[in-house]
Amino acid sequence: MSLLKEEITHLLKVIKTASKITEWLRANNIIQYEKVDRSPVTLADYASQYYIINKLKELFPSDKIIAEESKSSQLISDDITLLNQCFSSLDLPQPKDFKNLLNYRGMESNRIWTIDPIDGTKGFIENSWYAIGIGLLIENQVKFSLISIPNYNGEMKIYKAINGNGAEVSSNFIDFNPINVSKINNLNQSKVCHSLHHDNDTTKKFRELAHIKINKPMESMAKFCEVASGNFDLYIRHIKNYKPKIWDYCPGDLLVREAGGKVTDLNGDPLIYKDGRLDLPTPGLIASNGLLHERSLDTINSII
Ligand SMILES: [Mg+2]
Repeated sequence: MSLLKEEITHLLKVIKTASKITEWLRANNIIQYEKVDRSPVTLADYASQYYIINKLKELFPSDKIIAEESKSSQLISDDITLLNQCFSSLDLPQPKDFKNLLNYRGMESNRIWTIDPIDGTKGFIENSWYAIGIGLLIENQVKFSLISIPNYNGEMKIYKAINGNGAEVSSNFIDFNPINVSKINNLNQSKVCHSLHHDNDTTKKFRELAHIKINKPMESMAKFCEVASGNFDLYIRHIKNYKPKIWDYCPGDLLVREAGGKVTDLNGDPLIYKDGRLDLPTPGLIASNGLLHERSLDTINSII
């Protein structure tokens, strides 16, 4: 195993606390900014990333870190005051060197941690689903992942996957239960989830051709969690003019595969991670229960 039992226990505490931080800020004050690409980011994205990086730096000082956000000049002293209030009300030490630590990326190493401090920031802002994702790659293979959905219909859910050891879910961060993909093998009876903000003509056409009756747009990597749990059978993502980010995909990739499903590019090949990036040679990917995979690939490839 790539991690010790006590290291996994520490990591569970880290993602639980990051989830409490984002939930505190969601309840108290969602301070929103705009990134250079005009996508939204909030104080909670920064706070969650700060907390996770700080802990990973302590726990694994010689590992490399890849994280979504970077130091921002938009953070003003009022925001830091709110952050201090958040941390004290959660009995956490006051943040130190907050802005600089957002840019900490560890050491050069073949052990790489990926952090998405809030995936689905729009969902977070709209009080809908969002996720926090942490992945560990060793020699370009995903070995471990944690995904938290802090606002899963009023519950805080956490999903854990260990390479070769299955996928599990917990609602209290203590008791974990194994999860498995569904056994549906008729495409026209399958439940499909897709990106809320990146649905397009190709994925719409896929649903038409495959006679999909139930489909749900969803925020964040929660889509992988829903497929891994068997609540949905298929997640299909067509990507146009966009380089997918490793932190968005590697935790869910391992989770679905460890729950017995399949995740591939549109050629049917496993996702390839190289030099801290997701190297996707086709314009999209499919995560499925495995049984629906080939037919889904044939169908989408007949469109694009
Ligand atoms: Mg994010």
